[in-house]
Amino acid sequence: MRVLPPAMRLVLFFLAAVVGAALLLLIVLRESYLEAERQAELDAQNLTGVLEARLGGVFRRVHANLEELAASLPKEALRPGVEARFRSQLTRELALRARHFEEIVGFRVLNAEGDVIYASEGDFSPVGAADRDYFLDLKAAPERHYTFSAVMRGRISGRLMLVMAVPLRDDDGGFLGVVMAPLDLGVVQSLFQSLSLGEHGVVTLRRSDDGRLALRRPLLEGKLNGVLRDNPMHRRIEAGDMAGVIRFSAALDGTERVYAFRRIDRYPFYVAAGIAVDDFMAAWQRMAVMAGLAALVLALAMCLGLLRLLRVEREERQIAGRLADSEARYRALAENSHDVIWMLDISSRRFSYISPSIRLLRGYSVEEALLQPLEATLTEESAARMLAVIDQRLRRIAAGDVAARVGATELEQLRRDGSIVETEVMTTFLFDVDGVPRSILGVSRDISDRKEAEGLMRESNLRLQAQLEEIGRLQVALQELAIRDALTGLYNRRYLDETLEREVSRARREGSSLSLVMLDIDHFKLVNDNYGHQLGDEALKRLARTLLDDIRAEDVACRYGGEEFLILLPNMPLEAALVKAEAWRRAVEALVLEQGDAAIRFTISLGVAAYPEHGKTPDELTRNADRALYRAKHEGRNRLAVMTV
Ligand code: GH3
Ligand code: MG
Ligand code: MG
Repeated sequence: MRVLPPAMRLVLFFLAAVVGAALLLLIVLRESYLEAERQAELDAQNLTGVLEARLGGVFRRVHANLEELAASLPKEALRPGVEARFRSQLTRELALRARHFEEIVGFRVLNAEGDVIYASEGDFSPVGAADRDYFLDLKAAPERHYTFSAVMRGRISGRLMLVMAVPLRDDDGGFLGVVMAPLDLGVVQSLFQSLSLGEHGVVTLRRSDDGRLALRRPLLEGKLNGVLRDNPMHRRIEAGDMAGVIRFSAALDGTERVYAFRRIDRYPFYVAAGIAVDDFMAAWQRMAVMAGLAALVLALAMCLGLLRLLRVEREERQIAGRLADSEARYRALAENSHDVIWMLDISSRRFSYISPSIRLLRGYSVEEALLQPLEATLTEESAARMLAVIDQRLRRIAAGDVAARVGATELEQLRRDGSIVETEVMTTFLFDVDGVPRSILGVSRDISDRKEAEGLMRESNLRLQAQLEEIGRLQVALQELAIRDALTGLYNRRYLDETLEREVSRARREGSSLSLVMLDIDHFKLVNDNYGHQLGDEALKRLARTLLDDIRAEDVACRYGGEEFLILLPNMPLEAALVKAEAWRRAVEALVLEQGDAAIRFTISLGVAAYPEHGKTPDELTRNADRALYRAKHEGRNRLAVMTV
């Protein structure tokens, strides 16, 4: 079976709860409705019971008195014309008996003509009763022992009355008159009124033979003595029921009631009490409306609650979905990473999770690796170091060092085949809800390639370093080459030009002196021609050495042309320069070159110029030095000369 989504289950549960509550409410309402109806029936039955007992009692006692009177009345007292003789005695007796009944107006004796001859009320002004139904009835029917009249208004009292009468007969059954008692229906009516029946309740007293209405609460005088037609209650009476309960709408006022009816024992009457459905239902209807409203409010509240639950449920589902997504992402990361991701329980030093790439790293399956304690996975040295690291970091964490939660260590791990794999292990301490470190989340990375690469890198770095140093040396040499003459090792002309420019500027700026000596080998062509070019070169080298041996650090000696040399002497006035130049001339003159047995000598001529006497620019200075040299050559060579200013 397909499982319903939680939201649907919630709605169904809610609907079931609402339907269940509604059903329960209906059952309770129906039960209370039936209970109210039963209670009304019971009330009506109780009332009819009371009424029957009361009215039956009255009827029986009045009847008994009437029969006693009829039996005890002297027959001669009924003869015409004797009333005066008996009146006082009989009136007293009738009055004595009447005293015990509040329900009757009095006891009366009627003669055969229907005249009242004795009455408990004393001098009763006689009104003929010859036309009254009870009188006619008893007179006409010799077998009758008693009768009731229709309901009537008393001719004198104006009260509603019901007469109960018994006949007076002689020994042969001849009709002599009637003893009767008018029942004061006003008393019965007030009894009816005193009953608690609800606003629309009715009480009726009817004849059981023809259903004639004898009395009703509320009183409908026009309906008194009316016969019943088509009345379901009366049909039950006719059918012989002594008592019963029935619910119907009265033809008289159209009100639906629950009626209880009960025959009055031995007499042709029955009482009925009807409680209006509207009356006994009013309380129930109020309760039903209240319960309905309460149920509605409850259902609305539940509806709101349901909506809220649905929203919460939807949000939870979304959160759960996102969680599942992110978990799947992390799992995919862990399972597909080349790095081994693991979780270690700190107290037991056992792994609770190891990602599948452990097989690549150490050659074990996840299941096998999970069985190994931490120490078994590392070389002895690494295991000891790792345990020490864990202890140290736990101490630092306990001391509140937040940085100790994360760290990295290089460890040697043992592979299944006994070999060692170099790893870098990143660890993060994880805490439980109480902030106690419980486990370590770790990532182990194979760094053997990196280690190897690092070694290679170190080597190549060293090589590179050596090469760089070499290049540096070569560069210095190149720079030297650029400014030096290869044969003699003296500076070249380009370098001199730059330096001269700089030194002249400085001399001008500082007001210092500066001298230039230009020299040229005498008849050098002949040296070359006679001893070869090689010896010429040797001569050039020796000359250069001679100069270098006798100059200051700041002096600049340079090969100016083929066998022409120029020496720059900063901070040296003309006189000193002349002394210097003369010293060089002599030194060269003393040089001896040897080739085979031959000892070869040569000389030089020198021209000296000084700043500022012979010029204020490099050009003027070199030109004048050159002129001086020309003059020295011209004057005989192997000498020095200065341009006269
Ligand atoms: P002077 O006394 O007038 O200077 O006579 P000179 O023979 O020295 O004449 P000059 O200065 O014109 O001679 C230049 C000669 O120097 C030409 C050439 O044979 C020689 N020479 C120039 N450069 C070199 C070089 O690098 N090596 C050799 N061996 N000889 C050179
Ligand atoms: Mg020359
Ligand atoms: Mg020369």
